Amino acid sequence: MPDQMETDYLVVGTGAAGMAVADALLSHSDARITLVDRRHAPGGHWLDAYPFVRLHQPSAFYGVDSVPLGADALDQAGLHAGFYEMAGADELRHYFANVMQEHFLPTGRVHHFPCSDYLGNEGGIHRFACRLTGATREIRVRRKLVDTAYLEGRVPAVSAPPFEVDEGVRCIPAGEVARQPEPAGRFVVIGGGKTAMDTCVWLLTGGVPAASIRWVKPREGWWLNRRFHQPHTLLPEFYAGIGLQFQAMAQATTVDDLFLRLEADGFFLRVDTGVIPTMLHGAIASEQEIALLRQIKDVVRLGRVRRIGRGAMVLDGGEIATPEGAVHVHCAAAGLVRPPLRPIFEAGRLTVQPTMWGFASHQFALLGVAEAMIGSDEEKNRLCRPISYWDESADYLSAYLALLSAERARAAHPALAAWARASRLNPLARLGEHADHPTVVRTRALLKELGPAAVENAARLLAAREPPAACA
Ligand SMILES: Cc1cc2nc3c(=O)[nH]c(=O)nc-3n(C[C@H](O)[C@H](O)[C@H](O)COP(=O)(O)OP(=O)(O)OC[C@H]3O[C@@H](n4cnc5c(N)ncnc54)[C@H](O)[C@@H]3O)c2cc1C
Repeated sequence: MPDQMETDYLVVGTGAAGMAVADALLSHSDARITLVDRRHAPGGHWLDAYPFVRLHQPSAFYGVDSVPLGADALDQAGLHAGFYEMAGADELRHYFANVMQEHFLPTGRVHHFPCSDYLGNEGGIHRFACRLTGATREIRVRRKLVDTAYLEGRVPAVSAPPFEVDEGVRCIPAGEVARQPEPAGRFVVIGGGKTAMDTCVWLLTGGVPAASIRWVKPREGWWLNRRFHQPHTLLPEFYAGIGLQFQAMAQATTVDDLFLRLEADGFFLRVDTGVIPTMLHGAIASEQEIALLRQIKDVVRLGRVRRIGRGAMVLDGGEIATPEGAVHVHCAAAGLVRPPLRPIFEAGRLTVQPTMWGFASHQFALLGVAEAMIGSDEEKNRLCRPISYWDESADYLSAYLALLSAERARAAHPALAAWARASRLNPLARLGEHADHPTVVRTRALLKELGPAAVENAARLLAAREPPAACA
């Protein structure tokens, strides 16, 4: 007979989402929490990340609300000099382990089961199995299952390439490029997202000539300029970025026109100015990174890779010769996933999903705070409506509109509004410290003037847009 335990919340997944929700529940309720994860330690996908990964956002807004991440130092050198620090994978793994060990477990209200597969729920009894012993445990959940697995992304280290690779072809996941036993004559980087960008930047800064890199991009992406996503002393520029977005939303004539206006303002960046991007994953880049990436001239735009053979690569849009002796770097995992939306708050279940344009940790924590502070699931769902993760350019607008309407709804809820004003995960929480800064004064007036026109025109642009072309 398996052991049976009891808990208020059973959190499946100790990645950033599970940890942020658990932290909010611990801070704002007296709940007892059990966390399970099939991985051996807290931190989720950061445990398998490629060694040169860093957050693309400042550490200041990432992690769990109650424990700061990093020391808020400014980078002194390199491609991000002058910007606030962004943790790398080692620091993130240490951070989440420390949150569990030094903050969660000492409350006496938390149980943690790493190396454990959640198996499901039958008749209100949930089961999970230890991957080391095979032993199954049963647990009665008094309040809710917190499911962060619904949205679990894919990273190249643990996802097979979504294309065939013939015998004898060298194809490695992004992380392995740092551990190659011998030099490669050429690198073929496959993917158009953040992992591919990081890999290209890492190769270039490591001394690989741009001419030795081929970049196979299924889609071109828009990137957010790091300059407009900074905390603390640089927060006025963040606020100025909001003003620019409102201005473009109020004046744009199409979705592409909106992006081009914001590019002219420096808010959005793209690597190839000859191509209109269709992809938007919400990642942040610096102008220096983009300038470096422009050195790569051998760019293949023939859609998705289907097969890499010896001597040829087959893509949706045709076939190209494969360079002799090339190392192919798989950066083509799905990343963010977009399962069907479901209510976030249900009887016995909280399904973590994004609710608005913005940083992930802030959104995750907000769900835990809403769960703890608000009585009815109906009211929680009214204040936190799920949206899909952004993928195409137009998704930026729908997610931004969701942000504005959710902020209006939540502003009328005093406890949630008070939390948002104090949370370190909310980028604008400390804007009051810059209330008299000329940029802030100017932007505040701009937002007041353009707010209604921006919302109205953004909704019109979305309604009028062409249906998206089939994903290349
Ligand atoms: C390279 C990269 C860089 C990123 N940078 C940023 C950034 O700067 N800022 C940002 O906001 N976001 C960033 N992201 C997005 C990132 O997805 C989120 O920040 C966040 O880390 C996701 O956390 P999560 O908990 O949702 O998912 P995960 O980290 O994937 O955690 C989910 C966990 O659930 C566990 N699990 C799933 N199913 C089960 C089961 N049945 N039983 C037991 N355990 C299970 C998994 O083992 C996993 O540990 C980045 C993503 C990538 C890939």
